[in-house]
Amino acid sequence: MAIICLMKDQIVDLRSDTVTRPTPGMMQAMVSAKVGDDVFGDDPSVIALEKKAAAIFGMEAGLFCPSGTMTNQIAIKAHTRPGDEVICDIGSHIYKYEGGGIAFNSGASVRLIQGDRGRITAEQVAANINPDDIHHPVSRLVVAENTSNRGGGSCYDAGELQRISSLCRERSLKFHLDGARFFNAMIATGIDPLETGTRFDSISICLSKGLGAPVGSLLLGSAEFIRQARRIRKVLGGAMRQAGYLAAAGIYALDHHIKRLSEDHERAGRIGRLLEACPFVTQVAPIETNIIVFTLSEEMPDERFLHRLKEAGILAIGFGPQTIRMVTHLDVSDAMMEKLAGALKNG
Ligand SMILES: *Cc1c(COP(=O)(O)O)cnc(C)c1O
Repeated sequence: MAIICLMKDQIVDLRSDTVTRPTPGMMQAMVSAKVGDDVFGDDPSVIALEKKAAAIFGMEAGLFCPSGTMTNQIAIKAHTRPGDEVICDIGSHIYKYEGGGIAFNSGASVRLIQGDRGRITAEQVAANINPDDIHHPVSRLVVAENTSNRGGGSCYDAGELQRISSLCRERSLKFHLDGARFFNAMIATGIDPLETGTRFDSISICLSKGLGAPVGSLLLGSAEFIRQARRIRKVLGGAMRQAGYLAAAGIYALDHHIKRLSEDHERAGRIGRLLEACPFVTQVAPIETNIIVFTLSEEMPDERFLHRLKEAGILAIGFGPQTIRMVTHLDVSDAMMEKLAGALKNG
């Protein structure tokens, strides 16, 4: 058993920041959690987590869910009616990576914007709001993603989010934040969570990405919105019983794993510099947080590159033609960084 664990530890898994295992401290928090039955609304750890996360953003209430896909999809369902239109970036997670859930769950139409590395502007949103005319779907919801995954971990400028928010209020549209990696943006840019809370009608955050919890996301919003969201979560089968064991990991993550995200960003920057020195790497996208996206020259087919890395005990994922993504997280060690540097030097 010990040998298997050691071998596993040697793998440098940069496929995503979701691959982390609970730290001993987090595990301790989980096993000693006070739990109840959250479907009956009496799991003290879940209640504490929902309150804590809502307070970070100055929101009234929170809802603990199994995944960020579910928190996003519940938000879309709660904000729209069938036939309404959702406005978002063309590469946004809600559109590209949630299995067509906008159509499946909400029967909504989507208006796609070509943003700048995943970031849309108020001007673009304004140009894509439909006039009040029976031919067009009713523009109902705008979704921003911060940081943007397809955008390579890019961060929004707070002023732009404020402009989109003001526009949404003027035009009676709802505004949802897919903040799966909001805390990476907060650490990188200093964006204020309380101000963020005033800009959005709903916010989704993930505990199982950079924060290192094994499972869980939170949907945040007004008390009335969360009441409605809780109903939708039940319908989707996302209401859990002794979920406090998982919520305890989330509380621990919010208490201990936010500030340290700067280490992930620093390591991502170092990996970027290693890649820039590689003859077979043609471009490294700007690195703002913990995501590294780069393209390979024709001489190095992406499949061969990924295979070679794998043979050296390093995992990354394809992110489009000749494009690779790596993500740093709290299970990346200095020894792993050295191993990666060695493997890239050897081509
Ligand atoms: C990971 C992610 C989600 C949620 O993913 P789950 O795997 O369902 O928890 C949502 N949005 C973005 C931008 C993500 O990267």
